[in-house]
Amino acid sequence: MSNQQHREGRQGTDRRGFLAGSAAMAAGAILSQQGSAARGEVRPGQERQLPAAGEFPVKSISSANGREATRIAYDLVMQGKDTLDACVAGVTVVENDPNDTSVGYGGLPNEEGVVELDSAVMHGPSHSCGGVASIRDIKNPAQVARLVMKTTDHVLLVGEGAKRFAIANGFKEENLLTERARKAWLRWKHSLSDNDDWVGELGEEDPALLEAFGGRPTGTIHCASLNANGDISCCTTTSGLAWKIPGRVGDSPIIGAGLYCDNDIGSCGSTGRGEANLKNLCSFAAVELMRNGMSPEQAGLEVLKRVADHTPDRLRDDDGRPNFGLNFYLLSKDGRHAGVTMWGPGRFAVTDADGTRHEESAALYERPRRGGR
Ligand code: ASP
Repeated sequence: MSNQQHREGRQGTDRRGFLAGSAAMAAGAILSQQGSAARGEVRPGQERQLPAAGEFPVKSISSANGREATRIAYDLVMQGKDTLDACVAGVTVVENDPNDTSVGYGGLPNEEGVVELDSAVMHGPSHSCGGVASIRDIKNPAQVARLVMKTTDHVLLVGEGAKRFAIANGFKEENLLTERARKAWLRWKHSLSDNDDWVGELGEEDPALLEAFGGRPTGTIHCASLNANGDISCCTTTSGLAWKIPGRVGDSPIIGAGLYCDNDIGSCGSTGRGEANLKNLCSFAAVELMRNGMSPEQAGLEVLKRVADHTPDRLRDDDGRPNFGLNFYLLSKDGRHAGVTMWGPGRFAVTDADGTRHEESAALYERPRRGGR
């Protein structure tokens, strides 16, 4: 089926999903016309009003699991540290946390029970970037990604080469599979088929584990920081999709998808279904939309709408909407920020002069709440 036929078919048969998307677009268009001046938005060709150097509103934002990461990054930026070093310091805490099963040590493994990590960094002032993909046995891939950026002429190292590069730079080789993640993986193996050789009882099951890892868990941390001079950097790090095929690389280490930053405009980064993001290069697209005058929230919702429009039928719900989660975290050079999510409710973390907190993400679609839509 061609894209055109696909869209026509969907409009005919999935009217609710289409209307929801149209409403979001129409709302975005009206907002952009009516509220743009009030929110300091810029029309193409219009001169942007930016604070003077030294007066930009210092800020760090991240995915919801990075509340502490934003606080660390913000404090470091306030102490005069480089914005990228601040982001990497923030996400390192999450990479080291065995209880975050979506990032670094304790991350859920691939289908063979091996943890494989993806990460990338982007430094606004120098417009440079680096990444590692499918790296094993190295706890802090964001730090390795920063070294790729700083000490090589390359942008992305993968697999065994990335690991050797890390070891050559003094990183320790260690087993990243925690007992908790191993048990979750084993349980998944047993659940695959009644017709294979994985039979018998697994013994006592942790109820929290069963609840947490019932489906296909995902997760990641993205963190971005803005300093008082208007410099922006960002970083994304993840163990990727649980139970993935070994060697699978998601969006997180891909510049333009899992993260992107233009020091003149702002940054965007993602968590959620990487394959959907990779097919739309959403972080790059969102920064370009901000360049053309959209607010962070409008740009984020617009890229989610594009993803929804391009979603294949096998990944749509009965109403024609994407059946997966995808989130973006956007920061514009003038200090505005937003989180957006395919399916609300969702939230993200912020630290700025008003303190450290979670804020609600703007949603393209709302999950039905109890008692009705
Ligand atoms: N975006 C990550 C990936 O696809 C996973 C996630 O954020 O849930 O690898």
